[in-house]
Formats: sequence, structure tokens, C-alpha cells
Amino acid sequence: MDELTDFVIPIVGLKFGEHSYRFKVNRQFFKEFDNTDIQEGSLQVDLILKKRSNHMELMFRAQGSIHCQCDRCGGDLNLPLDHQEIRIVKFSQEDFDNTDDVLVIGREDHQINVSHIVYETIFLGLPIRKFHNQETNGQTCDEEVIKRLEEYQKKESNKGVDDRWSALKKILTDKD
Ligand SMILES: [Zn+2]
Repeated sequence: MDELTDFVIPIVGLKFGEHSYRFKVNRQFFKEFDNTDIQEGSLQVDLILKKRSNHMELMFRAQGSIHCQCDRCGGDLNLPLDHQEIRIVKFSQEDFDNTDDVLVIGREDHQINVSHIVYETIFLGLPIRKFHNQETNGQTCDEEVIKRLEEYQKKESNKGVDDRWSALKKILTDKD
């Protein structure tokens, strides 16, 4: 987990007010997370942290691109990404459950590791279906592959019809 030590922010001694951080995210970072969909990418993540007396506001912005596979043609896909997420970190002595947007840390906690929130910011910025799209990412699918896929699907569905036909024929011939 050495790769993620860059994402540790010391809280103790941090003055009230605004602080900015910048993180670089690359292949090494994604290796630490178990997601086969995102394995490579190059992004810059900016964080503006506002420290108040009883909580902190964390604003993340991820910009860059993710390299993955196209859901349609299976080819290499370079997805541009620009996404923002906000998290609130509360200081508390009591035990509270974390929710999606609010994290609770103990007053005695000296630091916070934001790597998971950085990862979430990237993950939530990606479309559910990832494919070459002239309009959104300026890339087009490998037409050869799409053509072959369509031909294959057509053949498969024809096969189904043929099977039904031969079964019907067999019933008819058996009758004779
Ligand atoms: Zn494609």
C-alpha cells in the first residue's frame, strides 16, 4: 500500500481555513483497487479542504482520462473524465456510522487517507456503459469487429430457427 501514502493528509496542526492539494493518479494507483474495469489511466485530482472547528469540507475534482475496453467492440478506449465530489468529515468522540457523503473521524485521529475518496471521485465520473462514441469521446468502434459480431449473432439466431424447423419436420415425418 506504499503507493497510497501520498494520499495521507495530516489533520493535527492543520490551520482552520482553506488548503489545496494535488494528487497524480496512474496505473500504480489503480492496482491498489480491485476493479478489473479500470486498470489504467492518467489523472490529476485537485482537493480543496476547508477546515472548520467541528468538521471539514473536502471538494475533489478529477480530470484526465481512463484507459479501458470498449463494451461494444472490445477495442482500446480512452475515456475523458472531469468529475467533482464533495465529502464532509466530522470530528467526533462518539462512534458514528459513516454515510456515503459524511465521514466521521475521532478527534484524536492525526491524519486522513483520502485515496478511497479519490478513487470514488474517478469511479463515479465514469459512464455505466463505456464505449466508443463520436459525440462524447470522439472515438468510433472498430467497424470490422461490429460487423463480424452482427453476422455471428444473425447466424446464431438463424440456427435457432433452423433447429425449430428440423424439430417440426421430424414430428411431421414421424407422423407419416
Ligand atoms: Zn468500440
